[in-house]
Amino acid sequence: MKVLKTKQSLTQALEPWRSESASLGFVPTMGALHPGHFALVEQATQNNDKTIVSLFVNPTQFDHASDFESYPRDLEADLEGLRKAGVDAVFVGQSDDVYSPHHSFWVVPEGELVANLCGRTRGLHFRGVATILLKLFNIIRPTQAYFGEKDFQQLTIVRRLVKDLDLSIKVVAVPTVRDLDGLALASRNRRLTPENRRAALALSQSLRLAKALFAGGETLSDQLCKALKVHIENAGGRVDYVEIVDPTTLALVKHGRAESRVAIAAFFGDVRLIDNCQLDSSLDSPLPQSS
Ligand code: AMP
Repeated sequence: MKVLKTKQSLTQALEPWRSESASLGFVPTMGALHPGHFALVEQATQNNDKTIVSLFVNPTQFDHASDFESYPRDLEADLEGLRKAGVDAVFVGQSDDVYSPHHSFWVVPEGELVANLCGRTRGLHFRGVATILLKLFNIIRPTQAYFGEKDFQQLTIVRRLVKDLDLSIKVVAVPTVRDLDGLALASRNRRLTPENRRAALALSQSLRLAKALFAGGETLSDQLCKALKVHIENAGGRVDYVEIVDPTTLALVKHGRAESRVAIAAFFGDVRLIDNCQLDSSLDSPLPQSS
């Protein structure tokens, strides 16, 4: 497995694969890898001649310097896991190499795509995400790029980026990987105290609640969201948002439909977690029951 630390070494390493016309699977990550990330890696290695993973904690997508600094990092364990997973190359990005000193151009998603969900409170987050992804797409020129449904707004923005800017990349969505009790795996889970880890179960529980209420005939978004908020707050979480959106435009919907996406962000202690699912569980894999 090649470990590449500069854009230049990355470009050089890709040359022979390009001349072989190898299909290239790309999994962008910020490291601190867990089985959710490895689900993306597994699909990439199975479906491409070569797989490349990036480990880069992208400073331009953090709202606060403190969040960037406290973001978990575990390079040695990540490299070990990726080696075992059969990855061909890893790009370990360094900020001062990835971004030139006078970086001035940005990819800015606009409109409904960023008006709701995390876009409402996380100002420049998706500008940072879209910009780093376009840069990495330009350098790597992957055949297929893999993204988790766990970050549903990000996935939707990437799909639109590829479409609107005419990139010839296939975006592959991978279902959310969860702990046995239902908590969606996330690098930030490492920062939860045991008490907050227990409280955070309210996220997946509330998604199940939304599915149950919807299955029972409740379609009004206001009612559904209210029930979920109460559930999370009773468990000790501080709700950032609970919203129901159209899965393609991310516009808020007044009445939930089978394919609508219910999405949540909440703080447990100082750790902000997100989760989402489709309202109709027959459309995606059901959430596991918590014990
Ligand atoms: P991150 O390192 O958090 O930026 O995530 C890198 C990629 O892994 C993104 O496409 C995420 O959506 C995906 N991912 C993170 N957690 C999970 C999970 N629990 N299940 C599936 N994909 C995930």
